[in-house]
Amino acid sequence: MREIVCELHAELVRNNLVAWTAGNVSGRIPGEDLFVIKPSGVSYDELTPASMVVCDLDGNLVEGEHAPSSDTAAHAYVYRHMPEVGGVVHTHSTYASAWASRNEAIPCVLTAMADEFGGEIPIGPFALIGDDSIGQGIVRTLKDHRSPAVLMRNHGVFTIGKDPRAAVKAAVMCEDVARTVHIARQLGDPLPIPQADIDRLYDRYQNVYGQRSPR
Ligand SMILES: [Zn+2]
Repeated sequence: MREIVCELHAELVRNNLVAWTAGNVSGRIPGEDLFVIKPSGVSYDELTPASMVVCDLDGNLVEGEHAPSSDTAAHAYVYRHMPEVGGVVHTHSTYASAWASRNEAIPCVLTAMADEFGGEIPIGPFALIGDDSIGQGIVRTLKDHRSPAVLMRNHGVFTIGKDPRAAVKAAVMCEDVARTVHIARQLGDPLPIPQADIDRLYDRYQNVYGQRSPR
Protein backbone atom coordinates (compact mmCIF):
# COMPACT_ATOMS: atom_id res chain seq x y z
CA MET A 1 0.00 0.00 0.00
CA ARG A 2 2.97 2.34 0.59
CA GLU A 3 4.06 1.72 -3.01
CA ILE A 4 0.55 2.23 -4.43
CA VAL A 5 -0.07 5.44 -2.49
CA CYS A 6 3.41 6.77 -3.34
CA GLU A 7 2.95 6.14 -7.08
CA LEU A 8 -0.53 7.66 -7.13
CA HIS A 9 0.85 11.01 -5.94
CA ALA A 10 2.64 11.20 -9.31
CA GLU A 11 -0.81 11.10 -10.95
CA LEU A 12 -1.82 14.26 -9.06
CA VAL A 13 1.20 16.01 -10.59
CA ARG A 14 0.76 14.47 -14.05
CA ASN A 15 -2.85 15.62 -14.17
CA ASN A 16 -2.10 19.14 -12.93
CA LEU A 17 -4.22 18.79 -9.81
CA VAL A 18 -1.68 20.17 -7.34
CA ALA A 19 0.59 23.13 -6.68
CA TRP A 20 3.63 22.77 -4.39
CA THR A 21 2.67 20.14 -1.75
CA ALA A 22 -1.04 20.93 -1.54
CA GLY A 23 -2.71 17.61 -2.23
CA ASN A 24 -2.64 14.11 -0.81
CA VAL A 25 -3.69 10.52 -1.37
CA SER A 26 -4.34 7.86 1.26
CA GLY A 27 -5.20 4.17 1.11
CA ARG A 28 -6.74 1.89 3.70
CA ILE A 29 -4.68 -1.22 4.46
CA PRO A 30 -7.12 -4.07 3.72
CA GLY A 31 -8.24 -5.96 6.79
CA GLU A 32 -6.60 -3.57 9.25
CA ASP A 33 -7.69 -0.40 11.04
CA LEU A 34 -4.80 1.46 9.41
CA PHE A 35 -4.17 3.63 6.38
CA VAL A 36 -1.16 4.93 4.45
CA ILE A 37 -0.92 8.67 3.72
CA LYS A 38 1.52 11.26 2.38
CA PRO A 39 4.02 12.73 4.82
CA SER A 40 3.47 16.44 5.53
CA GLY A 41 5.40 19.02 3.53
CA VAL A 42 7.48 16.59 1.44
CA SER A 43 7.58 17.51 -2.26
CA TYR A 44 6.06 15.03 -4.70
CA ASP A 45 9.30 14.14 -6.46
CA GLU A 46 10.95 13.28 -3.14
CA LEU A 47 8.24 10.83 -2.10
CA THR A 48 9.29 7.20 -1.78
CA PRO A 49 7.32 4.19 -0.52
CA ALA A 50 9.49 4.25 2.62
CA SER A 51 8.65 7.91 3.32
CA MET A 52 4.89 7.22 3.37
CA VAL A 53 3.41 7.16 6.87
CA VAL A 54 0.98 4.71 8.44
CA CYS A 55 -1.78 6.00 10.74
CA ASP A 56 -4.55 4.42 12.75
CA LEU A 57 -8.18 5.38 12.14
CA ASP A 58 -7.94 8.15 14.76
CA GLY A 59 -5.17 9.72 12.68
CA ASN A 60 -2.37 8.82 15.09
CA LEU A 61 1.04 8.07 13.59
CA VAL A 62 1.76 4.33 13.81
CA GLU A 63 4.78 3.96 11.55
CA GLY A 64 6.98 6.40 9.64
CA GLU A 65 9.77 8.90 10.07
CA HIS A 66 7.79 11.97 9.00
CA ALA A 67 4.72 13.66 10.41
CA PRO A 68 1.56 12.69 8.50
CA SER A 69 -0.18 15.12 6.13
CA SER A 70 -1.99 17.97 7.86
CA ASP A 71 -5.20 16.62 6.26
CA THR A 72 -4.83 13.27 8.06
CA ALA A 73 -7.69 13.93 10.50
CA ALA A 74 -10.12 14.39 7.60
CA HIS A 75 -8.96 11.17 5.89
CA ALA A 76 -9.16 9.27 9.19
CA TYR A 77 -12.69 10.52 9.87
CA VAL A 78 -13.82 9.26 6.44
CA TYR A 79 -12.29 5.81 7.03
CA ARG A 80 -13.91 5.59 10.49
CA HIS A 81 -17.37 6.47 9.24
CA MET A 82 -17.42 4.97 5.74
CA PRO A 83 -16.17 1.38 6.02
CA GLU A 84 -16.70 0.79 2.28
CA VAL A 85 -14.12 3.48 1.43
CA GLY A 86 -10.60 2.23 0.68
CA GLY A 87 -9.03 5.43 -0.68
CA VAL A 88 -9.30 9.19 -0.13
CA VAL A 89 -7.83 12.05 -2.17
CA HIS A 90 -7.65 15.77 -1.44
CA THR A 91 -6.66 18.49 -3.92
CA HIS A 92 -7.10 22.21 -4.50
CA SER A 93 -7.41 21.63 -8.27
CA THR A 94 -8.13 24.91 -10.02
CA TYR A 95 -11.53 24.66 -11.67
CA ALA A 96 -13.15 22.48 -9.02
CA SER A 97 -11.90 24.82 -6.29
CA ALA A 98 -13.29 27.78 -8.23
CA TRP A 99 -16.77 26.17 -8.02
CA ALA A 100 -16.13 25.53 -4.30
CA SER A 101 -15.21 29.17 -3.75
CA ARG A 102 -18.60 30.21 -5.13
CA ASN A 103 -20.39 27.57 -3.03
CA GLU A 104 -21.89 26.18 -6.22
CA ALA A 105 -22.41 22.50 -7.02
CA ILE A 106 -21.37 21.46 -10.54
CA PRO A 107 -24.61 20.64 -12.38
CA CYS A 108 -24.86 17.36 -14.27
CA VAL A 109 -24.73 18.60 -17.86
CA LEU A 110 -22.31 16.04 -19.38
CA THR A 111 -22.81 12.32 -19.91
CA ALA A 112 -19.35 11.76 -18.40
CA MET A 113 -20.66 13.35 -15.19
CA ALA A 114 -23.68 11.07 -15.15
CA ASP A 115 -21.32 8.10 -15.64
CA GLU A 116 -18.81 8.88 -12.94
CA PHE A 117 -20.76 11.01 -10.45
CA GLY A 118 -24.36 9.94 -11.01
CA GLY A 119 -25.55 13.56 -10.91
CA GLU A 120 -24.21 16.89 -9.70
CA ILE A 121 -20.95 17.17 -7.78
CA PRO A 122 -22.18 18.50 -4.42
CA ILE A 123 -20.91 21.25 -2.16
CA GLY A 124 -19.83 20.48 1.39
CA PRO A 125 -19.85 22.96 4.29
CA PHE A 126 -17.24 25.57 5.15
CA ALA A 127 -14.93 23.98 7.69
CA LEU A 128 -11.57 24.88 9.19
CA ILE A 129 -8.65 22.48 9.52
CA GLY A 130 -7.75 21.42 13.04
CA ASP A 131 -10.52 19.13 14.25
CA ASP A 132 -13.09 16.74 12.78
CA SER A 133 -15.20 19.38 11.03
CA ILE A 134 -13.78 18.78 7.53
CA GLY A 135 -14.23 15.01 7.92
CA GLN A 136 -17.76 15.48 9.22
CA GLY A 137 -18.60 17.71 6.26
CA ILE A 138 -17.26 15.18 3.76
CA VAL A 139 -19.10 12.24 5.29
CA ARG A 140 -22.37 14.10 5.79
CA THR A 141 -22.34 15.22 2.15
CA LEU A 142 -21.24 11.97 0.50
CA LYS A 143 -22.99 9.41 2.75
CA ASP A 144 -26.22 9.39 0.77
CA HIS A 145 -24.86 10.74 -2.50
CA ARG A 146 -23.76 8.89 -5.61
CA SER A 147 -20.92 11.33 -6.20
CA PRO A 148 -17.48 10.17 -5.02
CA ALA A 149 -16.41 13.84 -4.98
CA VAL A 150 -17.38 16.76 -2.75
CA LEU A 151 -16.42 20.40 -3.22
CA MET A 152 -15.72 21.71 0.27
CA ARG A 153 -16.86 25.33 0.34
CA ASN A 154 -14.05 27.91 -0.05
CA HIS A 155 -11.50 25.09 0.05
CA GLY A 156 -11.15 22.30 -2.50
CA VAL A 157 -11.97 18.74 -3.45
CA PHE A 158 -12.17 15.53 -1.46
CA THR A 159 -12.84 12.27 -3.31
CA ILE A 160 -13.42 8.72 -2.11
CA GLY A 161 -13.15 5.34 -3.79
CA LYS A 162 -13.14 1.65 -3.11
CA ASP A 163 -9.35 1.94 -3.32
CA PRO A 164 -6.90 4.84 -3.67
CA ARG A 165 -6.72 4.52 -7.47
CA ALA A 166 -10.50 4.96 -7.78
CA ALA A 167 -10.33 8.04 -5.55
CA VAL A 168 -7.55 9.51 -7.74
CA LYS A 169 -9.61 8.80 -10.86
CA ALA A 170 -12.56 10.66 -9.30
CA ALA A 171 -10.28 13.63 -8.54
CA VAL A 172 -9.04 13.72 -12.14
CA MET A 173 -12.57 13.44 -13.55
CA CYS A 174 -13.89 16.06 -11.12
CA GLU A 175 -11.36 18.64 -12.32
CA ASP A 176 -12.01 17.71 -15.96
CA VAL A 177 -15.77 18.27 -15.76
CA ALA A 178 -15.37 21.34 -13.53
CA ARG A 179 -13.29 22.88 -16.32
CA THR A 180 -15.65 21.91 -19.13
CA VAL A 181 -18.79 23.13 -17.36
CA HIS A 182 -17.01 26.35 -16.40
CA ILE A 183 -16.20 26.98 -20.07
CA ALA A 184 -19.74 26.06 -21.11
CA ARG A 185 -21.07 28.61 -18.60
CA GLN A 186 -18.99 31.37 -20.15
CA LEU A 187 -20.78 30.94 -23.47
CA GLY A 188 -24.31 30.34 -22.26
CA ASP A 189 -26.45 28.05 -20.15
CA PRO A 190 -25.48 24.36 -20.26
CA LEU A 191 -28.51 22.11 -20.73
CA PRO A 192 -29.40 19.78 -17.86
CA ILE A 193 -29.68 16.04 -18.54
CA PRO A 194 -33.05 14.55 -17.54
CA GLN A 195 -32.84 12.54 -14.30
CA ALA A 196 -34.04 9.31 -15.97
CA ASP A 197 -31.19 9.54 -18.48
CA ILE A 198 -28.67 10.29 -15.72
CA ASP A 199 -29.90 7.16 -13.93
CA ARG A 200 -29.51 5.01 -17.05
CA LEU A 201 -26.03 6.35 -17.82
CA TYR A 202 -24.89 5.87 -14.23
CA ASP A 203 -26.23 2.33 -14.04
CA ARG A 204 -24.60 1.33 -17.33
CA TYR A 205 -21.22 2.83 -16.48
CA GLN A 206 -21.11 1.45 -12.96
CA ASN A 207 -22.35 -2.03 -13.82
CA VAL A 208 -21.69 -2.82 -17.48
CA TYR A 209 -18.89 -0.63 -18.84
CA GLY A 210 -15.27 -1.77 -19.01
CA GLN A 211 -13.59 -5.13 -18.51
CA ARG A 212 -15.50 -6.15 -15.38
CA SER A 213 -12.27 -5.64 -13.49
CA PRO A 214 -12.13 -3.16 -10.59
CA ARG A 215 -12.40 0.38 -11.91
ZN1 LIG B 1 -6.81 21.61 1.49
